[in-house]
Amino acid sequence: MLLKKSLTIGLSGLLVFSLGACSSQNSSSSSSSTSAQPSASVTSSAKKEKSIYQVALLQSLTQGYYDGIIKVSELKQHGDTGIGTFEGVNGEMIVLDGVVYQALSDGSVKVADDNETVPFSNVTFFDSDTSEELSDIADINSLKKKLTEKVEEKGKNLFSMVKMTGEFKKMLVRSELKQEKPYKTLDKALETDQREFTYENIKGTVVALYCPDYMNGLNTSGWHLHFISDDKEKGGHILDLSFEKAKAEYDMVQEFDMKLTDNEDFQKTSLADDVSDAIKKVETSDE
Ligand SMILES: [Zn+2]
Repeated sequence: MLLKKSLTIGLSGLLVFSLGACSSQNSSSSSSSTSAQPSASVTSSAKKEKSIYQVALLQSLTQGYYDGIIKVSELKQHGDTGIGTFEGVNGEMIVLDGVVYQALSDGSVKVADDNETVPFSNVTFFDSDTSEELSDIADINSLKKKLTEKVEEKGKNLFSMVKMTGEFKKMLVRSELKQEKPYKTLDKALETDQREFTYENIKGTVVALYCPDYMNGLNTSGWHLHFISDDKEKGGHILDLSFEKAKAEYDMVQEFDMKLTDNEDFQKTSLADDVSDAIKKVETSDE
């Protein structure tokens, strides 16, 4: 609440939609509205466990809107697991067990400061719905194919957050140098400022988000994967990986909340522009 820099207080938009047939139709404007979840065992915290919370759009990030929209401390109120980046694309974000990690361009990882701000992120309160053991995965495309099989079985029109733990034979991740204004588009920034790191036989967790096909205008359809090592010293956006065995847990999510901002530069961004080619370029390792 005290952050002034580039943060518009009180006027930021919030877009919410619900994908569950059994969800409440009742759109109470109260910020403390409760969704009509089946009466799961009562938990002490009022967490929105079944929402994917998204800060801005992958399209705004891709077009170079890197100003933080909310603080890390606020993001943590919306989820304990997820991915994203920081103001100025200052490293890759991995959210795991309620801790927000920042994988920097020098290959180091630190716990992000609560006052650090976030231009793009997807988080949820992770709640495993199903899990499976995966084996003999040779590359990232084989993994995406495997994960998609499970998603198609469980509901391809839902969001899915996946946590996958294991020892990885190969883990190729990237991060990037912090950008200064005037910001370049993300593909241009990564042409010179992407840094890649390859690790072998490393234990850790993959945090992956699956967005349904229809999300192409707001995010990207399919998978977006980040990694953090068990010792919390290495991590980043995954470009490739291989492993013999890992356990994947899936959280199928039926609600989507989106945080926008009335920031002038954000309002000037043409968010209907098709930047899918640029998104492909920045998400994958094809150089
Ligand atoms: Zn990423």
